[in-house]
Amino acid sequence: MNIYLLIILIILIGKYILDLTIEVLNLRHVSPELPAEFADCYDAERYRRSQQYLKETTRLSIIADSLLTPLIVAFILLGGFNLVDTFAREAAEADIWRGLIFAGILFMASSLINIPFSVYRTFIIEERYGFNRTTVKTFILDLFKGWVLAGLIGGIVFAAIIWFFATAGSMAWLLCWGAVTAFQLFILFIAPVTIMPLFNKFTPLEDGELKLKIEEYARKQDFKIKGVFTMDASRRSTKSNAYFTGFGRFRRIVLFDTLIKRHTVDELLSILAHEVGHYKKRHIMKNVLVSVLSTGLMFFILALFINNRGLFDAFRMSHTSIYASLFFFAFLYGPVDMVVSIMGNLLSRRFEYEADAYSARTYGQPGSMIAGLKKLSADNLSNLTPHPLKVFFTYSHPPVLERIRVLDQLRGIAGGSKKELLTSD
Ligand SMILES: [Zn+2]
Repeated sequence: MNIYLLIILIILIGKYILDLTIEVLNLRHVSPELPAEFADCYDAERYRRSQQYLKETTRLSIIADSLLTPLIVAFILLGGFNLVDTFAREAAEADIWRGLIFAGILFMASSLINIPFSVYRTFIIEERYGFNRTTVKTFILDLFKGWVLAGLIGGIVFAAIIWFFATAGSMAWLLCWGAVTAFQLFILFIAPVTIMPLFNKFTPLEDGELKLKIEEYARKQDFKIKGVFTMDASRRSTKSNAYFTGFGRFRRIVLFDTLIKRHTVDELLSILAHEVGHYKKRHIMKNVLVSVLSTGLMFFILALFINNRGLFDAFRMSHTSIYASLFFFAFLYGPVDMVVSIMGNLLSRRFEYEADAYSARTYGQPGSMIAGLKKLSADNLSNLTPHPLKVFFTYSHPPVLERIRVLDQLRGIAGGSKKELLTSD
């Protein structure tokens, strides 16, 4: 058996077994008793519903995985990639166009296969739990906008990579790294004013108590208020959230309209202060740095596998090509990618604690932050007791109970005479 084929099958099946194990452990880890911290925002019925919701979403993702993994394995073993490549070679002469056709067909196929699962999740599960506000029209429009964006952004990046590897010899990986990074930064910079408005409407805060208090807080923290927006999240879901995005002049803090509707002004201010914390602690730039370094690592390893005959044999390919190398390499890169993502999540969870501490220290109401987090979890039916393995592999935020416990300690300090502990970073 081809050694690359063996490695890729082990990676695919190993990942499937690992994911399945994590999901099953996570379901079994659910506590039958409501954690005491949540006694004031859940009743027995709501808590039972949150567990039922977890069960249904987990079951859907297990079913999807159990269907898609054998499908991918069969596609590899039956020479599906060669079939697509034969079509691309007949349709175009130039390598870049062949590559775009090859990638386009595979992208559309995987996108279409995923639609039924996404429909089921949105219109059956989310609907059943009262979250769904997405109309069929919005759903279809989102899909098309996603395709156009992926075609444009993905197409430009994919074509550039093919071109560099075809022309730049041993420097190709470095040039790819530089070009992709520059493009990534450009997209990240313009996304808040070009891409995100394609999906949602962003409005500057309305006049009122909330705006006044935010202005007062922002003045003290030397943060520009014009970067705070509300977003019409309610057109898709009743779930609520807030986030900080972008850098430079287009950076902004976004509060979901659903969040503003259900939280008190103090809770909203604590949450906003948390987002300001992400800005002040330069978390976005740190995340970008990590992503730039991991992109460099990826291109460096990719260069070693371009036009590797053994790898192409594993996929039953008649011809080697740069564009197909990118796809086949992605299969091999899976485990490295997983390690990168685990480290990224680890870092992100640390940033969340930092932002929570920033909110507690600068707005001075850890109690409101706790109340806000509890309400968010209850409204979104979040899993209060995820399995540590699930957290380790997939959580970008710490489990809410751990955040509450850490904030509670800060509250103890804030209430006492040791305020100086809160003012040191
Ligand atoms: Zn955060």
